[in-house]
Amino acid sequence: MAPKAITPEINIIKGQLYKPGNKNSYKWDIVWFNVIGFAVMHAAALYGVFLILTGHVSIAHLLNFIIVGYFSIFGTTMGAHRLFTHKCFKANKVVRAILIAGFTMAGQNCLWVWVRDHRQHHKYSDTDGDPHNASRGFFFSHIGWLMVRKQPEVIALGKLIDMSDLDADPLVMFQKRYYKTVFTIFSMVIPMLFPYFVLNETLWMSFLISFVTRITVTLNGTWLVNSAAHIYGNRPFTKDMLPTENEFVSFIGTGEGWHNYHHTFPWDYKAAELGRHYNGAALLIEFCARQGWAWDLKSASRAMVKHRATKRGDGTHAQYGWDSPDENNNQLKTEEYDYETLKKEAESEYIADDNDIKEAFKSH
Ligand SMILES: [Zn+2]
Ligand SMILES: [Zn+2]
Repeated sequence: MAPKAITPEINIIKGQLYKPGNKNSYKWDIVWFNVIGFAVMHAAALYGVFLILTGHVSIAHLLNFIIVGYFSIFGTTMGAHRLFTHKCFKANKVVRAILIAGFTMAGQNCLWVWVRDHRQHHKYSDTDGDPHNASRGFFFSHIGWLMVRKQPEVIALGKLIDMSDLDADPLVMFQKRYYKTVFTIFSMVIPMLFPYFVLNETLWMSFLISFVTRITVTLNGTWLVNSAAHIYGNRPFTKDMLPTENEFVSFIGTGEGWHNYHHTFPWDYKAAELGRHYNGAALLIEFCARQGWAWDLKSASRAMVKHRATKRGDGTHAQYGWDSPDENNNQLKTEEYDYETLKKEAESEYIADDNDIKEAFKSH
């Protein structure tokens, strides 16, 4: 099918918030190679899970699966997401290199592309400019978007995303340039070494469990942030957007499911209001900060959270919701909590650039 022509509107808006898309205007342009590839991958992974559940995989091999799996999850959540996409904190070269290695193990495309797509997802959330627009439903935002050619709107707006920081990072650009090679080494070969050479597993079993099943499980965990955490749950911080607070996704995704908060304050290193509630990535960032390996952790102040929950939330916040015991919640005066006041109050708690804060407070 010939690609849809890019409308002049896209050239005019140049990076401004894009208007919500119209589901009916969307046409699938299926990439069958990806469809078949994902189908085969999931069938093999289901067989791998079956072997694990029926005791055909040794405890040592399972431990390798879990350790490599979590290393790759932290590389994605703490690294690709909170450090490289949102710049929620700064870290030294060793931490950055380890996180890139972990992310490469996850097999989620090159870091540069992942970050570009995720920045675009935040900028044009749940509209035609969003690569995994959740207003098209669970399947599309979960995996469907990877089975079709990108919409012209997504391609055009993706070119406007500022990637200058990653362009200037030699490690990121190295991973981008040699992605196929580093992916083969880090995601496929290294995780297979222990089961194949030490546990004397067959090459097939090492490949099936430590590569195919592992990346399929962690990929689905990551995709649930784009699908389930944009559909199921409450919206205590911003009621007029799709992202939700989803406990299950947070539990399996080291704290990435507190997604209404995250879309409200994307620069907060906790990606959640609370750093210790199913939030392994926040705990690891705090650990690195205590060692002096990470610094400049950005976080929203209590005043900002309270203001946002009472002014823009759906009233379900445990402490600042409509039914909470704090009777002053509904009486906060806007003039007392305007942008400048909040910025001053929060200054001692985070370092974020002005645009980030304005972005967090403006209407979506
Ligand atoms: Zn999201
Ligand atoms: Zn994000």
